[in-house]
Amino acid sequence: MDKSRTGRGGATVMALCQVAAALGEAGPDDWTIHMEDTVRSGHGLNDRDMAEVLAREAPDALRWLDEIGTGFDREDGRIQQSPGPGHTRPRAAHVNFHTGRSMIRALLGQVKRDPGILLVENAVAWRLVKAGQQVRGCLAYDYRRNLGLRLRASSVILATGGGMEVYPLSTGSACLTGDGYSLGLQAGAGLVDMEFVQFLPTCTLAPRLPGISLAIWAPVRYTLGGRLRNGLGQEFLERHAQGAAATRDMLCLAITREVEEGRGSPHGGVYLDFTQEPRGKVLAGLGDLYRQILEAGLDLLREPVEVCPMPHHFMGGLRVDPCGATGVPGLYAAGEVTGGIHGANRLTGNALSDVTVFGRRAGRAAAAFAREDPRREDWLGEWRAMEGLLEPRPGESPARAREELRALMLDCAGPVRDGGGLARGLRALEEMRERLLARVAPGGQPPWNLEALETIEFGHMLNVALAVVLSALERRESRGAHVRRDHPNRDVAWEKHVRVRMDGKGRMVRDHVPVRMTTEVG
Ligand SMILES: Cc1cc2nc3c(=O)[nH]c(=O)nc-3n(C[C@H](O)[C@H](O)[C@H](O)COP(=O)(O)OP(=O)(O)OC[C@H]3O[C@@H](n4cnc5c(N)ncnc54)[C@H](O)[C@@H]3O)c2cc1C
Repeated sequence: MDKSRTGRGGATVMALCQVAAALGEAGPDDWTIHMEDTVRSGHGLNDRDMAEVLAREAPDALRWLDEIGTGFDREDGRIQQSPGPGHTRPRAAHVNFHTGRSMIRALLGQVKRDPGILLVENAVAWRLVKAGQQVRGCLAYDYRRNLGLRLRASSVILATGGGMEVYPLSTGSACLTGDGYSLGLQAGAGLVDMEFVQFLPTCTLAPRLPGISLAIWAPVRYTLGGRLRNGLGQEFLERHAQGAAATRDMLCLAITREVEEGRGSPHGGVYLDFTQEPRGKVLAGLGDLYRQILEAGLDLLREPVEVCPMPHHFMGGLRVDPCGATGVPGLYAAGEVTGGIHGANRLTGNALSDVTVFGRRAGRAAAAFAREDPRREDWLGEWRAMEGLLEPRPGESPARAREELRALMLDCAGPVRDGGGLARGLRALEEMRERLLARVAPGGQPPWNLEALETIEFGHMLNVALAVVLSALERRESRGAHVRRDHPNRDVAWEKHVRVRMDGKGRMVRDHVPVRMTTEVG
């Protein structure tokens, strides 16, 4: 089931540049080196069993993607592997500037050829339903046909992606409201590392470039370099002791500091400047992309672009084992909805390896669980509650409620946070839940009842926002993507996960769990 038209929504189809795997096509490489790079980039917080599986199985997963038709770029017949920030070996495989789209096309081809797979599109999961301890399916809403759906299942895999839509401007698509975090929490699973939201440092702030991804400058920078300048025209990276190989978290901090110290560009970011690059290099490096950006309104050879950090990836998520099991019988998860693999900062290209490696593992484990499940009971679940929830009635507009929540999140849990702001944010979110949750109501009419969809999403977004703020308030140190002004240093005592769960009364509670150091995996 997919909330969007299958293959059109979510982050995978938007992913531009790379899948990381130690294929060794461009020189000696090995999964152990990939794992070391992953753990260094994750600032020691990666569950080692997950990081090991990721690095060990990524080459096989990548070759499988290639075989089913992704068509990775080649050089002398071998899959081309380029360098990427944080990787000590060239291991980024790509398909021009549309790697994710090519992966999705190949995967969707496989799905459509299998008569055993039923696709339910434009339907949003609202609640998982349990019988006793076991997840038995889900209640969902088809907003195109204005229909409630009851989906019975012996096992369920959440693969709902990240939650960056809880922020006002992000690189992802509008459907990424973090529903899977909320669905898992409500079913009894735990979330770890939710304070680690990766902001992509150089996203388009101005001018507006219709049809061009806000995240385009990451792959362009790998190809062309480019200079980062503040509003005074000064290159500033060295001032913050980072330099050209700085990882995303370091760049975000440097840009945020320039803006906070009054040296930002007119729209509140910094400039990314390619005007000093030789014309031939730009044209050869970008190919048709140069023309597309020009037609959208920017001549890279003549003017810089204003950029700023925007939320791009959630490192945190449902705590799972290497087979995607959440600990709630019958409930599995894979991809960005899970936490613990990337630690405090994700290495470029590792998200697409993550979804492929752990998607396959979770699929196999959930299928094995379902085959062993003797019971096929029917249920009505909380059907009536959902009917009431979606009836058009006067109340708060879900779109307005969503805007209020998003502004609050940027204010208190942006790329640089502090305890005072987070505590105020937490109180405001709790107040918002009291004031708005029951009052948000769809006024829209079928078909394509987007207000009903947004009403469901708002409930999920509130849970995601609360989990992020609660976790960020709890972690009193700075590490990777979590930067606290009031606790600027890394603290070895925090080499553990902050975990958030929901208690019997629907309140969020937190505790700490150790980072899994074992690499004993099957
Ligand atoms: C612009 C951009 C560029 C990126 N580039 C790269 C890159 O080059 N390399 C890399 O490794 N990573 C990259 N990433 C990160 C990477 O793309 C994502 O982490 C990854 O694709 C997430 O995949 P996923 O399968 O977990 O979720 P997604 O691909 O995001 O899919 C989630 C799906 O769940 C559906 N859904 C959500 N909620 C519900 C619900 N309640 N009910 C039903 N369906 C639901 C959505 O409609 C969507 O189809 C990029 C991300 C972005 C945004």
